[in-house]
Amino acid sequence: MKAEIISIGSELTSGAKLDTNSQWLSTELSEIGIPVHFHATMADDRQTMLEVFQTAVERSDIVLVTGGLGPTLDDLTRELIAELTGTELVLDEPSLKFIQDLFEKRGRVMAERNKIQAMFPAGSEVLHNPVGTAPGVWMEVAREGRSPSLLAAMPGVPSEMKIMYREQVLPRLPQGERVIRRSSVHCFGQGESNIEEMLGDLTARDRNPEVGITASSATISLRIAAHGSSIQECDNAIAETKSLIAEKLGALIFGEDDHTLESSVVSMLLRRGMAITTVEAGTRGLLAQMLSSTPGADSCFLGGVVLNASPSVVISLGDDDGAADADSGAGAMSLVSAEETLEMAQNARRRFESDFALSISPFTAPSAPGEPATSFIALAGENVNEVHEHKILVDPAIARPRAAKGALNLLRHHLLKSGD
Ligand code: AMP
Ligand code: MG
Repeated sequence: MKAEIISIGSELTSGAKLDTNSQWLSTELSEIGIPVHFHATMADDRQTMLEVFQTAVERSDIVLVTGGLGPTLDDLTRELIAELTGTELVLDEPSLKFIQDLFEKRGRVMAERNKIQAMFPAGSEVLHNPVGTAPGVWMEVAREGRSPSLLAAMPGVPSEMKIMYREQVLPRLPQGERVIRRSSVHCFGQGESNIEEMLGDLTARDRNPEVGITASSATISLRIAAHGSSIQECDNAIAETKSLIAEKLGALIFGEDDHTLESSVVSMLLRRGMAITTVEAGTRGLLAQMLSSTPGADSCFLGGVVLNASPSVVISLGDDDGAADADSGAGAMSLVSAEETLEMAQNARRRFESDFALSISPFTAPSAPGEPATSFIALAGENVNEVHEHKILVDPAIARPRAAKGALNLLRHHLLKSGD
C-alpha cells in the first residue's frame, strides 16, 4: 500500500509559502504504517492538477490532497475530482446549511460563490469541517482490475486540515502492517552523557521501543519510538519503557510530550493553590517570560522584577533602608553575593506577598578567559531559604535559559520534597 500527498496553491509553488501540510501528513501516515512515496506540489492550474490527479490515483492506493477547496475561482479541487471521476457536482443541503449558519454566527452575509463549497462529486462522501467553511471530499476512485484508490481532499489551512485528517480521514484509512507510535520524556538536572549512562542498555540501537536522547538548552529529552503491528501494542510497549526510564531517572524527569519545565512548575503550583514571584538580573526577564507565557500562570505567577541595576537596588528592591549608595555603579553588578541573592528573593516574596520567590543574580565576569562565570539562584518560601551557585561555561545567550530553568528546577524539587 502506497500513499501520495498533493499540495495545491500557487502561493506554494511561487515560494511565498512553505508547504508544511505534506510534511505533517507524511509523519501521520508513517505512524499508521503507510509509506508515502510521492509529494506533488502544484499551482492552481486546471490542466496540471487534472494530470497529477490522474497519475496519482493510478500509482497510489491513498491520495491525500490539501488546498483548492475555497470559494474563489482559482479553487478547483472539487471540480476536478468530478472531472476525474466523470461525475457531476451535486448540492449537499446539510453542508450548505452549516456554511450559512457559520456566516450568520460571524454576522456576515454568505456570498453566492460560497455555495460551491457545498457541492460534491456524485458518489463522494462529505468530510465535515467543524472549524471552517470548506468541507472536504472523500471519494473511492475505481481502478480497473484493482482495488479503488482512496482519495481525500482537505482544506489548505493547516489547522483545519489537521482536525479534518484526525477526525474524518484517519478513521477511513486502512492500517499498514507496521505501526509507529512516538512519545517523549523530558528531564533536567544532568548532562546528556550522564543521563545516557544512567539509562544503560535502554538506549541500545536495536531496541524496540527505540530510545534516543536529544538536548536543548539543558533540557534532555528521551524520544521513544515503538514499532509494532497495532497502535495498542505500541502504546503498551511505550508505557513499559517509560516506567523503566522512571525507575532509572526518578525525580530528574519533569514531564512528557508537550510539557515544559515551566508548565510542570505551574501545574504543581496550581494544584497546591500557591503563588510565585521572580526577581532576576542575570537572565534579563527570561524567567518571568517563561512563566507568564505558560497557560494557567495567571493564577499563580504574581509578577516579576527585571533588574539591570546596582547591587543595592537589586537586593533591596527599593526598600528605604537599602537605598542605592553613591559608589555602586552598574559595573558593581558582579558583587552580588549568595546571601544577597537570597535576600533579593526574600524581599520580593515579602513585597508581592507570594508563597515563593525565585531570584537570579547578575552573572559575574569570568576571572580569566576559559574560566566559568558565576550566578546565584535562590528560592525563598515559608519553609525554605536555599541558594545555589551556578557555574556558567558557555555563551550568555545559552547560559540565560539554563539559569532560568535551573531556578524553576530548584522550586520543582522543593515542591516534590515538601509534598505540600
Ligand atoms: P486553500 O485551501 O487553497 O484556500 O488554502 C488556504 C490557505 O492555507 C493558503 O492561503 C495557505 O496560506 C494555506 N495553505 C494551503 N496549502 C498549504 C500547505 N500545503 N502548507 C501550508 N499552508 C498551506
Ligand atoms: Mg488556494
